[in-house]
Amino acid sequence: MRAKDRFSYKEIRKEIERHIKKDESYASILNLYGAVFAVHEKNYPKIDPGAGLAKDEMDALLRGGRCLLEEDSVRIDPGLFRGLLGDIIATVQENSPAELKKLPRLLELEEFKSDGRLEQFIEGIKDRAKSRLERYLADQKIEKRSKVDREILSFVLLMSLIPFYSSYTRQAEEKANFDLWRRGSCPVCNQKPNMAKFRVNDGARLLGCWLCKAQWAFPRGECPFCGNRDGEKLPSFYLEEDKIYRLDACKKCRGYIKTIDARTAKRDVILDIESIVSMRLDARAIKERFRQPEKILIK
Ligand SMILES: [Zn+2]
Ligand SMILES: [Zn+2]
Repeated sequence: MRAKDRFSYKEIRKEIERHIKKDESYASILNLYGAVFAVHEKNYPKIDPGAGLAKDEMDALLRGGRCLLEEDSVRIDPGLFRGLLGDIIATVQENSPAELKKLPRLLELEEFKSDGRLEQFIEGIKDRAKSRLERYLADQKIEKRSKVDREILSFVLLMSLIPFYSSYTRQAEEKANFDLWRRGSCPVCNQKPNMAKFRVNDGARLLGCWLCKAQWAFPRGECPFCGNRDGEKLPSFYLEEDKIYRLDACKKCRGYIKTIDARTAKRDVILDIESIVSMRLDARAIKERFRQPEKILIK
């Protein structure tokens, strides 16, 4: 099965408009993400992430519980990355009400002066979750030297890395059988999922990766973060006003994941957007002392 869930920018924009019409309080964040997705769309044709493994090799890794990027790597062209980051920075500045005047300073750091130096920097920030990326930025004193807040830095850097990773996943999906994967972390890049959906045709739970956009099936009665299967310790919550979203938490590791029921929603669901418009559930989870294992959204 191909973990297909690809939408054109036009479809994404349509979904964004629909959500804003329904609840205007999401307008500024949805418009920001919409503009970021437009930058991604513009860059996809230029990206060749170089997924080099053969189908047999990919399937053997997945069967053995090892993610594809353990053996392969995403090719990130430094010039393309620099251009993409510049576009993301411009977009964030245009679309965010926050004071972000200092953001272009990032591109003036010595890390961006030559392709060789930039390649080194990209190696440093690659394959990292947000928390680990922020630690790297602190260690390298990027925050101090650019005078940009680390939350904003990691956001623009991750948004510039995502198209390379998701292009890799698109290539991998052409070959690999993701149904061989049994783990809760991502079969491509090993990140923790940030949103899930119940599939329209059979109701199976598909987990979605925030970084490479892979989707893979995972049993409903199991915590994707710690493997806990004790139903008594896996509470679910709904919001009364919007029952298409649910939150599955785990009392063992205190992690949680939100799910949209695509069958009840009766429409194509775009996980990146659904995770934004279900933020009230995150507030509920935090109140119940659960946490999202890797939080990448900015508000
Ligand atoms: Zn992934
Ligand atoms: Zn757990």
